[in-house]
Amino acid sequence: MNAAALTASYDFVCYGCDYNVAPPAAFTCPRCGEPLSIRSLATPGKAVFSQPLRSLWDYSDLLPVTDPDRAITLGEGATRLIEAPRLAAASGLKQLLLKNETSNPTGSFKDRQISVGITRARELGKDTVAVVSSGNVACAASAYAARAGMRAVLLMHGFASPTKIAQAAAYGGQVIQVDVPSANAVFDLCLEACGRFGWYHLSTAGMYEPYNVEGAKTIAYELYQQTGGDLPDWIVAPVGGGGLLGGIWRGLLDLQRLGLIERLPRLAGIQASGCAPLKKAIDEGTPYLETLNEPWPNPKTIAGGIADDILFDGHTVLPALRTTNGAAIAVDDPEIIRGELALASSEGILCEPTCAVVIAALEHLPLKNSGARVCCIITGSGIKDLPALQGHVAPPKRIGASLSALESALRA
Ligand SMILES: [Zn+2]
Repeated sequence: MNAAALTASYDFVCYGCDYNVAPPAAFTCPRCGEPLSIRSLATPGKAVFSQPLRSLWDYSDLLPVTDPDRAITLGEGATRLIEAPRLAAASGLKQLLLKNETSNPTGSFKDRQISVGITRARELGKDTVAVVSSGNVACAASAYAARAGMRAVLLMHGFASPTKIAQAAAYGGQVIQVDVPSANAVFDLCLEACGRFGWYHLSTAGMYEPYNVEGAKTIAYELYQQTGGDLPDWIVAPVGGGGLLGGIWRGLLDLQRLGLIERLPRLAGIQASGCAPLKKAIDEGTPYLETLNEPWPNPKTIAGGIADDILFDGHTVLPALRTTNGAAIAVDDPEIIRGELALASSEGILCEPTCAVVIAALEHLPLKNSGARVCCIITGSGIKDLPALQGHVAPPKRIGASLSALESALRA
């Protein structure tokens, strides 16, 4: 497919009222006021889904870029899908699959979104990108800006973990920590700065910049390919703003549009009980725009990466759950730590607390029988947030260099 064709291979759609319009368009639906989402119109053919996985840019026909050959990439995507037999048995599941996004270049799935978003920024001729982030987006934006020779301004929340701040700074981005409890308030600052200084707003919040959440769709494409088209019954993912699960849903819709799947898996969005606006909206049947009027008061959880007080991608994650007979589940901090340690000790994958919510949620899924096949999205590496484990893992036993001391220590 040539570049000219690619520029016309998507439109904008409103999932609130089924309005759609060809690009270019403002990002707000003129009929109902919900944010618009990008929808691929490309028909790339089945060969795209049968080649060996190399990076998400294998699916460039389905991504909103003009020239994929100029994509800013570090080899993101193409992550492994791993069976978790011990955890499956412990959870009473027929099959548990783990989509291991910790192996992305900066250690989280955000690399997918930032790679596509910053490629868009360069196509627009921008030389500076700015993000709002609790940690992982800042790390990804800083790394990909370094890769592109661009400047990154990183507005990080006051509760961002020190290791993520150090990681983001190491790639050369300018880290600014904003000391307010509301993610929403930091977005207001970032939007004002981007408007004033002409920066590209690279935050992964689809209500502001729909291009920046497109990379998450490729997780659905890879799952289709890695399961041979036999998708699991449930896909379980953490939800902060909602762009990950909303993106996976839209990727599944692409697969359905292309005639590759008939039914969509049920989708489960997992939050921390200390910040659960998705669960509240699902439980109460709240329309998306109304959720924006009531930010979650004083988010408080060890899962800082999903402590978003509003649903920045509620316009996709809400219909994702509502149309797939899905579920919104909230888990508390002790459950999250137990989930993180269970995954690490039973399957050898250390994820961060933000992502361990999906393991904690397994026992809360509304399963009809024990034959369910479940896929958890393991979004980020636990190495990014080791301080969270302090006090939750056993301290080392100190001994002298003798075999008897070793034997007695191992017995204790
Ligand atoms: Zn609409």
